[in-house]
Amino acid sequence: MTPKNKLKSHYEVIVIGAGPAGLAAARILKEAGKEVVILEKNKVIGKKVCAGGLTHKDLESGIPKDIISREFSSVLLHSHHKISRVRIEIPLAYTIDREVLGKWQYSIVKKLGVPLVTSTVIKVDQEKVYLNSGQEVSFDYLIGADGASSVVRRSLNLESKNLLVAFHYVVPKQMQDMELFVNVEKYGFTYLWIFPHQNFTSIGTGIDVTQRSKISDIKPKLEDFIKSKKIDLSKCQYESAPINYDYQGFEFGNMFLIGDAGGFTAPLTGEGIYNAIVTGEEVARKIIAPEYDTPKIQNILKYQNIQKRVLRLAQGMGNAADFFADAFMEVIHYRFVNKVAMDILKV
Ligand SMILES: Cc1cc2nc3c(=O)[nH]c(=O)nc-3n(C[C@H](O)[C@H](O)[C@H](O)COP(=O)(O)OP(=O)(O)OC[C@H]3O[C@@H](n4cnc5c(N)ncnc54)[C@H](O)[C@@H]3O)c2cc1C
Repeated sequence: MTPKNKLKSHYEVIVIGAGPAGLAAARILKEAGKEVVILEKNKVIGKKVCAGGLTHKDLESGIPKDIISREFSSVLLHSHHKISRVRIEIPLAYTIDREVLGKWQYSIVKKLGVPLVTSTVIKVDQEKVYLNSGQEVSFDYLIGADGASSVVRRSLNLESKNLLVAFHYVVPKQMQDMELFVNVEKYGFTYLWIFPHQNFTSIGTGIDVTQRSKISDIKPKLEDFIKSKKIDLSKCQYESAPINYDYQGFEFGNMFLIGDAGGFTAPLTGEGIYNAIVTGEEVARKIIAPEYDTPKIQNILKYQNIQKRVLRLAQGMGNAADFFADAFMEVIHYRFVNKVAMDILKV
């Protein structure tokens, strides 16, 4: 999919980045009659280092079931000493191919007539964006939807201290269960995931850079874990990318930050697709009606703060966190505990 649109010299709204956040924002703006353009550096829309895990809240945000890769009615949780299969009344989790998600979102904005131009933004200021082609384009409003290494965020001089780096191997094999592994003694304060798709499986983990953890501390352990599943590592593709959870505001005069660019990701789980879509839609509504008070962004921030506190608490426990993980496995089947866990994770 290679969009071939020509740029004008001025737009009412420029959106930088055609990820879930930028495409969601552009849709709402165009539906309200705004003149909007999307600038995207990649030729292929949707290609992104991501495990593609979703929960039912993502489907509530509008992602249709027919573009989902797999649906899971239960998830296998592994702690230090226990394995537990968790089920709730509704399907618990899903996976989606990010290119399929991007293609679906792009088809909607394309139908609405939003131009998407393949171009890399190298600099922005309060009036203009500057492209690698040498072209300059002015705007009334600018939305930074350009991910965890956002050019727009950098131009606002915002720090990005609260960072995760997530990495995975794309295993060319279908696996059965969605599985999560917590073992502080072995892997530190993180979790390993197995997220099966239709023709491949993402097996990965992440580190919290604020804890001075290094990829080299855990990558060999992830590799041993994969090899223990009798998977030939040389046939798997390794990918890694940062995840920003350092929220420092989303409205800066006529410039806005959404999704990973705004640091909206969930710090405990690393989930960002839902938060990207919802913050994109909310900021678009704010541009359309400046008095709009973005309740869904406030909700995302509330759960981000809860997750931050749980993460810091667990990090403060040392290896004792394994004891709590084991105890949690013991009681997860009780409806009340189940509900509290779902609330914290906001699935
Ligand atoms: C290994 C890993 C696993 C993950 N697993 C999950 C998961 O299972 N579930 C989940 O919900 N989330 C997951 N995430 C997080 C999720 O991928 C992100 O939160 C989500 O993609 C954020 O969407 P976004 O639209 O804000 O940014 P992105 O998806 O990063 O999109 C940003 C877009 O901007 C473009 N861009 C960047 N810079 C420029 C520029 N200068 N000029 C023009 N275009 C530019 C990029 O090409 C890209 O298309 C994972 C992340 C990683 C790294």
